[in-house]
Amino acid sequence: MSDDRDDMGQSDMGLVVVGAGGRMGQALIRAVHDMPGARIAGAVERPGSPALGRDAGELAGIGPIGVEIGDDPLPVFARADGVLDFTRPAATVEFAGYAAQARIVHVIGTTGCTAEDDAKIAAAARHATIVKSGNMSLGVNLLAVLVEQAARALEARDFDIEILEMHHRHKVDAPSGTALLLGEAAAKGRGIALADNEVRARDGQTGPRPEGAIGFAALRGGSVVGEHSVVLAGTGERITLGHQAEDRAIFARGAVKAALWAHGKKPGLYSMRDVLGLN
Ligand code: NAP
Repeated sequence: MSDDRDDMGQSDMGLVVVGAGGRMGQALIRAVHDMPGARIAGAVERPGSPALGRDAGELAGIGPIGVEIGDDPLPVFARADGVLDFTRPAATVEFAGYAAQARIVHVIGTTGCTAEDDAKIAAAARHATIVKSGNMSLGVNLLAVLVEQAARALEARDFDIEILEMHHRHKVDAPSGTALLLGEAAAKGRGIALADNEVRARDGQTGPRPEGAIGFAALRGGSVVGEHSVVLAGTGERITLGHQAEDRAIFARGAVKAALWAHGKKPGLYSMRDVLGLN
């Protein structure tokens, strides 16, 4: 654990940013730098990354901070209090194991994890304090609460639920983690399992829409940070609940807040709704 002290005699939480050269990685470096109570304890990228050896602050556009990006997570985790991870599922599963060994906080924003990945992350949460969410923003987590309420209030025989999302052209997984988070909220409101009722895509002779289905549609293009709409479509009327992310900073700030919230909490798997007190 970190023993660095600030002027007030309290210790700042030392955070490692993994995937520090990525879009979210750079936003995380800026967010930690700006957040009182947190400091950057390390920056990690995959072996062979062009970001290796660069100063993490310089790469993130805030000027040099004296933290060089390296490719060996173990020694960096050993002297940190937490890890901020927006990378890829295979890397995240590996990092969860290291966070468990080091018994530190692991904030996971990575999306596209399979059920097998999630089982490994849950196993790591026996020793690491893990906060995992498909969306770290206050707005989307509040939206999920509203979606759950709407789905509970409007019966499946009267209202169909469809989730539409759009993201930038570089995104590699679909539907987005946020769309799935909103789908889970709708399923919870309806008292059903998402896995048994989801329609992930439609093509060709699909037949009529099954009652109670939760449908997804994904658009990709340009530089869109993230847009989500949950449509509750009835006969003669339609309700649309939505969120537009304008800046990755909202996810990065949420992730740092999640780390500060988790610091000192017992090991386990927590969600952003726990962090924000929305449960
Ligand atoms: P990105 O720009 O591709 O960043 C991912 C970074 O992780 C890249 O720099 C990548 O390096 C690096 N990486 C991959 N494997 C690694 C490893 N083994 N060790 C260290 N670093 C590794 O993608 P992004 O747009 O930042 O998104 C990253 C993830 O966050 C995605 O899953 C995205 O859906 C998710 N996300 C979540 C939220 C949320 O609020 N939960 C918000 C936004 C994005 P290379 O490019 O060199 O492979």
